[in-house]
Amino acid sequence: MAYDYDLVIVGAGVGGHGAALHAVDCGLKTAIIEAADMGGTCVNRGCIPSKALLAASGRVRELQNAHHLKSLGIEVGGVAFDRAAIANHAQAIVTKQREGLIGSMKRLGVEIIHGRARVAGSQKLIISTPEGEKTITAEDIILAPGSIPFVPPGVQTDGKTVFTSDDAIKLESLPPWVAIVGSGYIGLEFSDVYTALGCEVTMIEGLDQLMPGFDPDIAKLAQRILITPRDIETKVGVFAAKVTPGSPVTIELIDAKTKELVEVLEVDACLVAAGRVPFAKELGLETVNVELDRGFIPVNDQMQVLSEGQPVPHLWAIGDATGKMMLAHAASAQGVIAIENMCGRKREIDYRSIPAAAFTHPEISFVGMTEPQAKELGKKEGFEVAVVRTYFKGNAKALAEAESEGIAKIVYRKDTGEVLGTHIIGMHAADLIQEAANAIAKRESVRSLAFLVHTHPTLSEILDEAYKRAAVHS
Ligand code: FAD
Repeated sequence: MAYDYDLVIVGAGVGGHGAALHAVDCGLKTAIIEAADMGGTCVNRGCIPSKALLAASGRVRELQNAHHLKSLGIEVGGVAFDRAAIANHAQAIVTKQREGLIGSMKRLGVEIIHGRARVAGSQKLIISTPEGEKTITAEDIILAPGSIPFVPPGVQTDGKTVFTSDDAIKLESLPPWVAIVGSGYIGLEFSDVYTALGCEVTMIEGLDQLMPGFDPDIAKLAQRILITPRDIETKVGVFAAKVTPGSPVTIELIDAKTKELVEVLEVDACLVAAGRVPFAKELGLETVNVELDRGFIPVNDQMQVLSEGQPVPHLWAIGDATGKMMLAHAASAQGVIAIENMCGRKREIDYRSIPAAAFTHPEISFVGMTEPQAKELGKKEGFEVAVVRTYFKGNAKALAEAESEGIAKIVYRKDTGEVLGTHIIGMHAADLIQEAANAIAKRESVRSLAFLVHTHPTLSEILDEAYKRAAVHS
């Protein structure tokens, strides 16, 4: 049977884009379908604009820190900034990245189709466009529809006083007092931006501790560096049960366990950063007998979509909609894996070696298991877990920069020395983690990593020191 395309990708976010580029490398005639903005969340409302806001606001924070500058022998006068110009900086990068993404696909001959697609049986899609519907066929289909912000029940958004990251990213205002619901990386990054630009923040977390997804040691230290010294009040173990937009915004907080009303806050604005949910409804998956799993598209490690546990032939899914690791580079890595498998080269995704970072000042990053997760695995598989910590204050480059707050923590198997996880908080942690991610991908042992030579004086010596100390004890 002749198909219209070898491959059609639904969703032109980073996942779809990464898959398209690799598909062309592999000689596949490829089309990509996008219902909204090319580039999806990362380019338009996520990684790119948020990092631009963090870069500008981080600079403001640094220049306002007279004590820190003085330690370097620098004195500056007052620091002024222009909110709208910072917002424009972010928007300009978005436009540039989006154009780059579109250009790269056009140059490679990927056909871009604007419209909303749904599966209409095996190897078939219906695309709705303003001009009407059309059916296309493809030997393989990748679903990459991404995710949207989760707005808990009881929370009403108006996009101005109560909003999600989709609106926060526009930095249309700097409310004097902002409540942030959620202390995951999105909440943390925005608290970094807001406090640098002079806002007061109240962070609301339903669980008993802040930053529940992070290694406990790192979460504790992050609280000491990123939260306590700043204009941030924290409320843990409470849910924002009812949030009503207006002036003021009212937030009813209930105890997470007893569900009793604890407090009513009145703030200028509320950012809802309570996680993200898959955007996988209305994809026509029932036509191929696929049931969503808590809203996510079920996949195996080859990125095949599953129906009752079995792969659906020629149907693949990647990115946030699979719910595995909601990160841009994870989405494109899954895309590459899907293409490799559809080309007959069996490959599985290795989530353990995919790093993650929060681009706060200083940054936080990690890869692999937290200490409690590693210990849990050790108990099950019968091995002991060991941990080493090294400190930025013992690193020459960090001292030269007068940025000596932070630690690196390596979690490893005591018997083999295999690195199971690495966690860093400190200057340039997001760049530093890559070396640890590569080590985990190769299942390296601290004993061999200890012989790698690191440039002096660099921050990378923080990991060098950790490997060497761990090697002695393994
Ligand atoms: P998306 O980027 O969401 O793209 C999916 C696309 O599919 C969308 O454009 C959508 O319109 C389209 N679509 C959906 N359904 C259909 C359909 N039926 N037909 C046609 N088109 C459809 N990740 C990082 O790694 N690093 C970061 O620093 C980072 N920062 C972030 C900051 C914020 C504020 C946010 C919100 C996210 C951040 N992320 C970050 C996460 C990252 O943006 C996502 O993991 C990534 O965008 C997921 O890519 P995706 O391709 O799966 O989906």
